[in-house]
Amino acid sequence: MIRTGCSSPLVDRFGRSVTYLRISVTDRCDLRCVYCMSEHMTFLPKAELLTLEELDRLANAFIMRGVRKLRITGGEPLVRRNVLELFRMLSRHLDGGGLEELTLTTNGTQLARYAAELAACGVRRINVSVDTLDPVAFRLTTRGGDLGKVLAGIDAARSAGLAVKINTVALKGTNEDEIPSLIEWAHGRGMELTLIEAMPLGDIEPDRTDQFLPLSLVRQQLAGRWSLTDLPLRTGGPARYVRVEETGGRLGFITPLTHNFCEGCNRVRVTCTGTLFMCLGQESAVDLRAPLRASKEDDLLHAAIDRAIFLKPRGHEFVIDRGRAPSISRHMSMTGG
Ligand code: SAM
Ligand code: SF4
Repeated sequence: MIRTGCSSPLVDRFGRSVTYLRISVTDRCDLRCVYCMSEHMTFLPKAELLTLEELDRLANAFIMRGVRKLRITGGEPLVRRNVLELFRMLSRHLDGGGLEELTLTTNGTQLARYAAELAACGVRRINVSVDTLDPVAFRLTTRGGDLGKVLAGIDAARSAGLAVKINTVALKGTNEDEIPSLIEWAHGRGMELTLIEAMPLGDIEPDRTDQFLPLSLVRQQLAGRWSLTDLPLRTGGPARYVRVEETGGRLGFITPLTHNFCEGCNRVRVTCTGTLFMCLGQESAVDLRAPLRASKEDDLLHAAIDRAIFLKPRGHEFVIDRGRAPSISRHMSMTGG
């Protein structure tokens, strides 16, 4: 029997509890990473976006249903106007005990400005995306980004007491030779690093088959250089972890294309327009904006959330084939990473 209503926990048809929500607060970004966006993106009109108050109400509804971990993402979350207001509102759930963790994924360009305030809102850990430490390659990969700004942002975050995890998308012919030095750099500073396989989300100008670097191969190469010890850690997400004995640091692998991770999936994602996606690698979605706006009470919203959780698919269907359209037409910047 499926229990529904505003206080029942979110459990899908396959018995998986949904305890982790990612909210994308904007589809916009100050960078244009080659694997994420096309050079000339059309962004949503601002009127389409949920307001900060609506985002807070949405988060509140999920927290009432048992969500314990909330990640703010984008696009670039820190380019959304007044986004710190949202963090301030959400921090009440940390104080109140509803939420165990409030965190964000960022490209780091605005961190120098916001790190201290994020820490004051109860954020303890953040993910920062860095694909290369070569300023020229960084400018090319992000189509114009300034690596110095990102590194200064990481320093500011660490000075503010935030634990920083680095996310690196493994890209054939771009950063593949640099992966060991990126790991040494991160581990040398006490930062975890997670390698991500490029996923076929949205049209971009380059052919994805030219970018795709299987992490099975990267792991094999790293194992020739270092001793990698598997760690039992599971976060309900796609990452698998090892300890690099020589550096003493933790290394994660997110391998949607060479490994299936769906059986323990505990998460769903909401876009900045209030569309709930139950799986990053599937098109099925439920609109939460209409029920949110239709009534000041949350009954319609909870009913829509129940419908959505019932639809959560068993797993993703990613494939990368030369000449084929991306398996999923929306960009990662829409649902967040
Ligand atoms: N702008 C922020 C950032 O770059 O961290 C947050 C949003 S970004 C979409 C979140 C993560 O998704 C980043 O680590 C990024 O590298 C990753 N990403 C974007 N497009 C991807 C793709 N097609 N395949 C795999 N990872 C991707
Ligand atoms: Fe922007 Fe993040 Fe996408 Fe790069 S990966 S274009 S920083 S949203």
